[in-house]
Amino acid sequence: MVDLIPSSDTVMEILKRTGAFREGHFVYPNGKHSPHYFQMPLAFRYYDTARVLAVGLSRKFRVDRDISSQLPKVAVISPSSGGIPVAFGVRDALSAEQIYWAEQEGGKRMFRQYINKGEVNPCIIVDDIIRSGHAIEETAALVKALGSNVIGCGAIVRFTSAPDKLGDVPIRSLVEFDAHMYDSGDACSDCTKDAPLEHVRF
Ligand SMILES: [Zn+2]
Repeated sequence: MVDLIPSSDTVMEILKRTGAFREGHFVYPNGKHSPHYFQMPLAFRYYDTARVLAVGLSRKFRVDRDISSQLPKVAVISPSSGGIPVAFGVRDALSAEQIYWAEQEGGKRMFRQYINKGEVNPCIIVDDIIRSGHAIEETAALVKALGSNVIGCGAIVRFTSAPDKLGDVPIRSLVEFDAHMYDSGDACSDCTKDAPLEHVRF
């Protein structure tokens, strides 16, 4: 089963082919410049591709004895809308019992109303991409406030600058990406070449 996890190269090839991984000269909303950008939902618009990625990630959880021994009484949780297709795909592959996702309301991450303390199974937090790790950390805090605990965490892509653990729980991913980020245009190599800018929204 383990050898059916797609390699990092295979996953990057899928992300390029679907347009989810883009090379150019990008400016993030926080003003940072980068020569690459991930628009992950473009890979999840194709059912077959979405399935390969989510099933691949699920296998990283399946081999974890602490997780597999608790299935199916597990919740798969997405920190935001981008991770929802990942959560559904991972849930399917693991036959986990529950799915939740958080949303941002007024700048604050929260679950929908009427999810009560004690109802949430032990959790696997999954996302499409982990850039800073803030989203999964905020989601882990929400999970704890509902009286549950995090037993797994992962994403299709993790920037190597992000944390690789959430407490004691390792953060698993199909691709570990060494992102090049410049704090401003002054330090950006594409700016010095006058390369045209593209502004990205997320
Ligand atoms: Zn630049």
